[in-house]
Amino acid sequence: MKFASQRFAILGAGRSGLGAARLARLHGAEVTIFDEGDKAKPVEDFKCVLGRPARDLVVKPGDFDLVVISPGLDEHWPLPVKFTSAGVPLVGETEFAFNLTDMPIAAITGTNGKSTCTELIAALFNGCGMKSIPCGNHGMSLSEVVASGVRYDVLACEISSFQLETIRRFRAKASLWLNFAPDHLDRYPGMADYFAAKARIFENCTEGDVAIVRAGESVSSGKARRWTFSAYGAGADYSYTNGRFYLEGREIGSAASLKVRGKHNMENVLAALMTGKVFGLEFDVMLKALAAYEVPRHRCELIRTLADREYINDSKATNLHALEACLRSQERPIVLIAGGKDKQLDYTPLRAELKGQVRAMVFIGEIAPQLEQTFGDLLPCRRGADMAEAVSLATRLSQPGDAIILSPGTSSFDMYTGYAQRGDVFRDAVLSLN
Ligand code: ADP
Repeated sequence: MKFASQRFAILGAGRSGLGAARLARLHGAEVTIFDEGDKAKPVEDFKCVLGRPARDLVVKPGDFDLVVISPGLDEHWPLPVKFTSAGVPLVGETEFAFNLTDMPIAAITGTNGKSTCTELIAALFNGCGMKSIPCGNHGMSLSEVVASGVRYDVLACEISSFQLETIRRFRAKASLWLNFAPDHLDRYPGMADYFAAKARIFENCTEGDVAIVRAGESVSSGKARRWTFSAYGAGADYSYTNGRFYLEGREIGSAASLKVRGKHNMENVLAALMTGKVFGLEFDVMLKALAAYEVPRHRCELIRTLADREYINDSKATNLHALEACLRSQERPIVLIAGGKDKQLDYTPLRAELKGQVRAMVFIGEIAPQLEQTFGDLLPCRRGADMAEAVSLATRLSQPGDAIILSPGTSSFDMYTGYAQRGDVFRDAVLSLN
């Protein structure tokens, strides 16, 4: 056994930690899980040190042979530093799992569309008779999948900047860069650091690997062959216009049979088709496999049509770029509900996007006053004390034929446990309208 009688510390008691612990044990290691959170729960029958005792921990040289860190933690935080300053080698959970598998990987990163694309890719392979699973930062952690012992033809692995921070050898046969926009400035000192972390997805690519990159993105894809895509008319190898997909100007299929809507989702479909191509699949077969696919909830999801108004839940739009993509995918005039936690994002670029399309705005959450200042001179703006009030204000500001959209443009933690709860509260408020 690879790690027989070695002592491993796993940091983080979430899905990544759980997977890493299972995988380490499978290879013979003696595992202890650490988590400083007071709400952390014991993980299966593993030895766990949680809450206060984890915060008070003292690590001495020789106590552990390896520390595996979950992506939710920063390696510069006090807990990991206790291990590294005692000379314990540190490895990220994704890197740890990567080194224990030979299954081919399609790795997906970007500011927006990662989850949608990861699911699309898994659905595409499964629909074409190749066994795949969405994993990584989405669903099961890579370690959980590897530890399960199930053999997949392709792993559709969503990979966040946090996971890429700690890679060393990680590489994928197809590496996808969906897009890049400012986000997570609350974790990174600046945009350059966030960009640099994401760009590491290409670091270990070889000439045989393919980089699937949105056209116009200024990221280096290293040694990989670079294939570009666009649904917005930027000269690209693969493109989408007016309901059709093209490869170098030659039509490869139609979007008519798809349930997926919106240009930004067509970019996700293009990226998925290109990934299938890397693994030798044919376009017509792939498009058939994707026909029934629907984007996951809270992503431009139509909740209800009432009095000729469409109510759309895009709670997953936790940054400005996703909000813009949502606005561009709509054909109706919009009353927009936005706001939430202050992530120190600059909202002024949105002013140009609103012209002509957005009729009015209703703000919620911590940054409501800031948004009112940014947009108040441009169009009617109101503030909702909670979601129910925001929905009713937006309804009053709307006209028949409008879309009333929750696309917050920031995260939700000032009011909710996450985007899913925020979307559910919106849905409830919309369903109780009459
Ligand atoms: P992620 O996992 O990267 O957060 P999701 O698929 O969950 O991505 O989508 C997040 C948000 O971004 C949603 O509001 C969705 O409508 C929007 N979105 C999805 N795909 C794209 C894309 N290719 N470009 C821009 N926005 C997108």
